[in-house]
Amino acid sequence: MAWLEQGGVYAIANLRGGGEFGRAWHDAGRGANKQNVFDDFIAAAEYLKANGFTPPDGLAIEGRSNGGLLVGAVVNQRPDLFAAALPAVGVMDMLRFDRFTAGRYWIDDYGSPADKRDFPLLYGYSPYHNIKGGAAYPAILVTTADTDDRVVPGHSFKYAAALQAARELVRPGVTTAELDAAASAVITGRGARSNFQLVRGYRHTTCISVNDQVVHGIPGERVLEPGDIVSIDAGAEFRGWNGDSAITIVVPDEARPDLVASRTELSRVTEGSMWAGIAALASAQTLRDVSGAIEDHIVGAGHGYGILREYVGHGIGRKMHESPSLFNYRTPDAGPAVEPGLVLAIEPMVVAGREATYVEDDDWTVTTIDGSDGSHWEHSVAVHDYGLWVLTAPDGGAAGLAPFGVTPVPIP
Ligand code: MG
Ligand code: MG
Repeated sequence: MAWLEQGGVYAIANLRGGGEFGRAWHDAGRGANKQNVFDDFIAAAEYLKANGFTPPDGLAIEGRSNGGLLVGAVVNQRPDLFAAALPAVGVMDMLRFDRFTAGRYWIDDYGSPADKRDFPLLYGYSPYHNIKGGAAYPAILVTTADTDDRVVPGHSFKYAAALQAARELVRPGVTTAELDAAASAVITGRGARSNFQLVRGYRHTTCISVNDQVVHGIPGERVLEPGDIVSIDAGAEFRGWNGDSAITIVVPDEARPDLVASRTELSRVTEGSMWAGIAALASAQTLRDVSGAIEDHIVGAGHGYGILREYVGHGIGRKMHESPSLFNYRTPDAGPAVEPGLVLAIEPMVVAGREATYVEDDDWTVTTIDGSDGSHWEHSVAVHDYGLWVLTAPDGGAAGLAPFGVTPVPIP
């Protein structure tokens, strides 16, 4: 009532599958015809939008029990259509619903997950099984009842957990401070500690640099926007040894495909130059061979990208920053010899325009003077008696090095 008094519109969708219009209407929305229910609901939502009952971003939906299943299914199928969704005591796991309390009595309606013909139908719309990572879901409030002996709470618990797991952290609307907190939770949760916080004057776990910022951006209240290019640099110390790594991500932006494409290319070339440097390390005599491989890869891409000169890769071990320095461009002198025991953080910092940068007023953030975009990729790599191993890559660098014909060798 309060909603209506405030001028809100409340609509009830009449969907096939209900009992209101006789047997045929009921059968048209159950078993193999279940998708009709979702299609009807989606059509009703589109009608409300098309006819101005709700603004484009104003539609909230709710449903309970079998209606909770409906809400979960349509949110997966059309996440763009709804602004908010409230599935209550929903049947969310259509592959196991028959195993709990009264669930077995619903097989008449839904079909049986144990039946070869029913299984693909159920699997096709089961809310729990159709949550996709990276999808821009509406705000979802999942509720359940811990004493409900028909739709057991496990349905909602699993569904909510899957939604949380699929939530892409880097997305429009997230702050860089939230990303930093997530990184901190992972590092401390595994018994390691942030080595960035051991750097004098720095209090954060990561550096997060957005758009014209290249490196050393400080996490804070900045909100990520669609199309942003975001470099995240982080490290950890575990049992006295250090790791250091960085990635660049472009936030999706359907409205600006050209911007996303150019920023993705900058990141791709930067990452490629890092792998070219790591691959060169496998056969390098001195560090100049590695530096030259990084520079050649960036120049060879043919975009006229700039390479930061004042900031370089480094040795890493008991401390995060150790000698020697590793330049991201070919140097006149040969540099230190490459030999077993050398562990390097290889980290090209590449910009779309001129390489000239300045340090922002926060005394940390390195930003391009011409406002062009920056990208930063980094891995920590160990050279040992039998080859090299990328310490900060889950596969030791196998996938990244494959295009260069280099196979990483685990440290014995
Ligand atoms: Mg780093
Ligand atoms: Mg580093």
